[in-house]
Amino acid sequence: MQLANYIRDIQGFPKEGILFKDITPLLIDQKARKECLEILVSSLRDKKIDKVIGVESRGFFFGMLIAQELNVGFVPVRKPNKLPYDTISASYELEYGSDRLEIHTDAICKGDRVLIHDDVLATGGTAKAVCELVEQLGGEIVQFNFLMELSFLNGRDRIKGYDIFAAITY
Ligand code: 5GP
Repeated sequence: MQLANYIRDIQGFPKEGILFKDITPLLIDQKARKECLEILVSSLRDKKIDKVIGVESRGFFFGMLIAQELNVGFVPVRKPNKLPYDTISASYELEYGSDRLEIHTDAICKGDRVLIHDDVLATGGTAKAVCELVEQLGGEIVQFNFLMELSFLNGRDRIKGYDIFAAITY
């Protein structure tokens, strides 16, 4: 199976000049989705991971599947004011302005071995913010795990020194 065949390019979404990688064809195909999950988890089974983080919102899909496959907890990292309990937050830069991500304060325990999953690594701003949240709560990041890396945006430079895995690199 060629995973990249299940990613659809959408020109001009969400705004002009952007080529958006649409993962919905991958989600809809049970066989491709299962194979993709195996690619994402194959190197993780012996890594003693305690929690998997999924980043809102497209990181939730495979993030939850990975957590289920590894038999560990799932933790959502969300956009501001979505989580109901006590939170901490981290800001990150957007093309224009900035945004914030939040996590529940009791979601990660000190010493937890954490996998961070999102669909795309682009500029790395999102990943860096999640990194700050996990480490502020005392978690240890075992791997940043992505469906896709847009390598021409150099997101890796923002999370240097960590293990970074991407199923597809563009
Ligand atoms: P970054 O913070 O690395 O610049 O952007 C990564 C975030 O933006 C991810 O949470 C991801 O969901 C979203 N993102 C950026 N570009 C794309 C894209 O082309 N396709 C998809 N599916 N998500 C994208």
